[in-house]
Amino acid sequence: MELRPSLAVGLILALLCACPAPAADDEGETGTEETGDTGEDPLAACDPDNLSYAPPPEMIEGTEGLWAVPIDIEAIEAALRFELDSEAHTGSARVQFRSGPERGVPVFDLRQSVTSVSLDGEALDLDSELGWVTIHPDPENRVRVLARELDPCTVHELELEYAIARPDAAGLPSVLVVDGHLNWEMQLDDLDPGARLEAWVPAGFVHDRHALTIEVELVDAAGEHEALSNGEIELLGPGRWRASWADTDSRGPYLRFTSADILERAEGVHVGPDGVEIAYLFHGVDTDTHGMDAVEAEILAELDVWIETYGAYPWPALWAYVGTATDHMEYDGALTINTLELALLGSRLRLVRHELLHMWLARGRRPAWASDGWVDEAWAEYMTANPVELAWDDEPVELLDPHPWARVTKLDAYTVGRGVFQLIAEATSDEALREAMAAFIAAGPRELFTTEELEQHLDCALDDPAVRRAFHRFVYGLEGEPEAARWSC
Ligand SMILES: [Zn+2]
Repeated sequence: MELRPSLAVGLILALLCACPAPAADDEGETGTEETGDTGEDPLAACDPDNLSYAPPPEMIEGTEGLWAVPIDIEAIEAALRFELDSEAHTGSARVQFRSGPERGVPVFDLRQSVTSVSLDGEALDLDSELGWVTIHPDPENRVRVLARELDPCTVHELELEYAIARPDAAGLPSVLVVDGHLNWEMQLDDLDPGARLEAWVPAGFVHDRHALTIEVELVDAAGEHEALSNGEIELLGPGRWRASWADTDSRGPYLRFTSADILERAEGVHVGPDGVEIAYLFHGVDTDTHGMDAVEAEILAELDVWIETYGAYPWPALWAYVGTATDHMEYDGALTINTLELALLGSRLRLVRHELLHMWLARGRRPAWASDGWVDEAWAEYMTANPVELAWDDEPVELLDPHPWARVTKLDAYTVGRGVFQLIAEATSDEALREAMAAFIAAGPRELFTTEELEQHLDCALDDPAVRRAFHRFVYGLEGEPEAARWSC
């Protein structure tokens, strides 16, 4: 296992301590020798907008000026090879990225066992030059770090090879092979650190948008397989596919491989209540008593509910997978629903409604940081689930982890988070709150937001002290009354 953060950082420090790092903003004296730079002004390669929602660089504990710096990923090209006889699955990936305006060691994540790593064509030593750092006190939020200080605003290429098994993150599946048939899906989770794209493919923080391609090869497959994805699928040859997404992030892509002969399918063009045509493709496995026709009708009916509430569907098409061995999850213009958990979690209708709302909020307007993810879960629950018990004199709850390197959405989002909206609605009105949230969501698909931006929006839209009181006590987890707002409406 690679979960030895302190040892890994120690090795990195041993390697780097001979070359003291300049201050974070000391960019003048550095060259661009590590880059594929063209000799132009290196600052021209900096697009601070792409890092404006990244956590700030942090000095690594125990160093004198060695900074961990987020990177701006531009493109990820990965190749996954599943050997169905030997079950020795492997991956490789090339990540093109830019460093930000501060000098430091670049961070990213991949929750698989790396077998080789190189930067800008130079092989790095696995033991001493690839490690983990835990900027956030909870090691689950750890990130990988390369022992190479990068000059500000330079362009780089990271290459990795790795073995593929069950990701080292909470709740993700193993790679299941039965009689030469692969049943595998990425099954991303937008709550836990390490459980987003980085579970299978190297990736960055949730705000970072980039192009992505994943080539998949199945070796020794016993039968036909189908590649299911919300990306564009290209058949490269027998047992070889390429899935691509022109513009996604670590929460958006979905990919699954399943035996072709067990799939049910429904597709067509749906005309929404606004008269706009939406192409759809749904796959089902074991839809049993429900039947694929019913699934199709349910999803399209629920889609219309949200079109009437929030306006035009913000994706070019709608894609869904409904069956066993999956999770209830939203992706870019796509959702998955697990038919096995219906008894536990309520009706499929409610689950479909919850995930579809995320096409507008979560995958449409989206949380900038993982910790802001409470908002879309809380709002989806407010709009689809039964009320919870939350009173003003209940103990404060910290729903939002204030640490900028936190990579977790707290589970209280589904209960306390829903309660936050209840308290605000009780003080104002359900109708006013729904209207204010619709205006917030309408800012646009792919538009990032922070918790404070939502608080400010609701404070100004509803003009009621309950907004700031509810956030103060049950989002920030603080006693007493909030201080004066940092904004004016
Ligand atoms: Zn959700």
